[in-house]
Amino acid sequence: MTGPGSFFTHLQCSSCGEAAPRDGAATVCGACAKPLLARYDLAAARAAGFSPEKVRARGRSLWRYREVLPVLADENVVTLGEGATPLVDLPGLAARLGLARVLVKDESMQPTLSFKARGLALAVSKAKEAGVREIALPSAGNAAGAAAAYGARAGLRVHVAMPEDAPKANVAECRAAGADVHLVKGLISDAAKWVRAGVEREGWFDVSTLREPYRIEGKKTLGYEIADDLDYDLPDAIVYPTGGGTGLIGMWKAFAEMEALRWIGPRRPRMVAVQAAGCPPIVRAFEEGAAESRFFEGAATAAAGLRVPKALGDFLVLRAVRESGGAAVAVTDGELSEDARVIGSETGLLLCPEGAATVSALKKLAASGGIRANERVVLFNTAAWAKY
Ligand SMILES: *Cc1c(COP(=O)(O)O)cnc(C)c1O
Ligand SMILES: [Zn+2]
Repeated sequence: MTGPGSFFTHLQCSSCGEAAPRDGAATVCGACAKPLLARYDLAAARAAGFSPEKVRARGRSLWRYREVLPVLADENVVTLGEGATPLVDLPGLAARLGLARVLVKDESMQPTLSFKARGLALAVSKAKEAGVREIALPSAGNAAGAAAAYGARAGLRVHVAMPEDAPKANVAECRAAGADVHLVKGLISDAAKWVRAGVEREGWFDVSTLREPYRIEGKKTLGYEIADDLDYDLPDAIVYPTGGGTGLIGMWKAFAEMEALRWIGPRRPRMVAVQAAGCPPIVRAFEEGAAESRFFEGAATAAAGLRVPKALGDFLVLRAVRESGGAAVAVTDGELSEDARVIGSETGLLLCPEGAATVSALKKLAASGGIRANERVVLFNTAAWAKY
């Protein structure tokens, strides 16, 4: 591997601030059961020469950020070639909306064809490092596919639970990678009950969104890569399709780390959380001024990755959105499918429903003044269109 290794020091609770040791299979805070965040000795990393120039000289992979990733021993790195996706320009859309630039971080070519690869590469690497043998998680679909593939790569047994109406491609890819697949009637929250039972009965290690601290570390590399691609001049706004919120929380963390590393200044993009009108718990909490969301009953949307009725890290999403002066926006399935059609036929960029939702949200924000003339905006295409 590249560089002098990881500067990971310990875990810290995102809510009560309690510290936790970095060794072993980490879950949530022992004191308050909220998500833990990985902390690094960033001053030492900087002193050891960890810099944008050094990173650029390395191979194009998320592992180029080795110093700020939590895997301690190189032999525990489990990789299928994740990270290093392009920012694709949409000049036609930018011109129509009066914006300087609209860029789409296109995650559709990641291993298992979704950006869940980033998070699961880290979670599985750390599970391997902790000596875990079997992992389990509930998923709307793409996280299960990525867990199955990385688990197979690491030689772990993988148990996944998905709603029975999860995209067919997700069920098929899990089976193809040899995972134990369980389909449940209902939502990801129902799948989570099956996983919890197995965790208690069989001792599986639970890698559910934010119940283990390292998927965020994988997703935060989205923020590092965007900064690098824009020469450390961050965009004015980041429009993120939010289910569990891992990527948004991760990027917000990445920006703080980069400021501590003195790679960027204090200016931040406005963070926008996009949800489906059929399942908008975080949008509802944002509008109500609440610190946390309430469970959203009757969640329904074609954007499977956004069908999360209650996220463990909702308070972290809401905090980042508010601190950044951002917004939370809901879009309908009709809007996102129309925008996917327009962008696909106009540019050849084929958007998954979640990715198309960021276009629909951008149009709303441009109309309402939430995003202003001549601003630079980054959207996400979080999975391959063909998976749906
Ligand atoms: C999981 C997922 C999302 C939501 O990501 P979070 O970081 O959990 O909010 C968005 N799009 C796709 C395609 C997904 O699979
Ligand atoms: Zn705590």
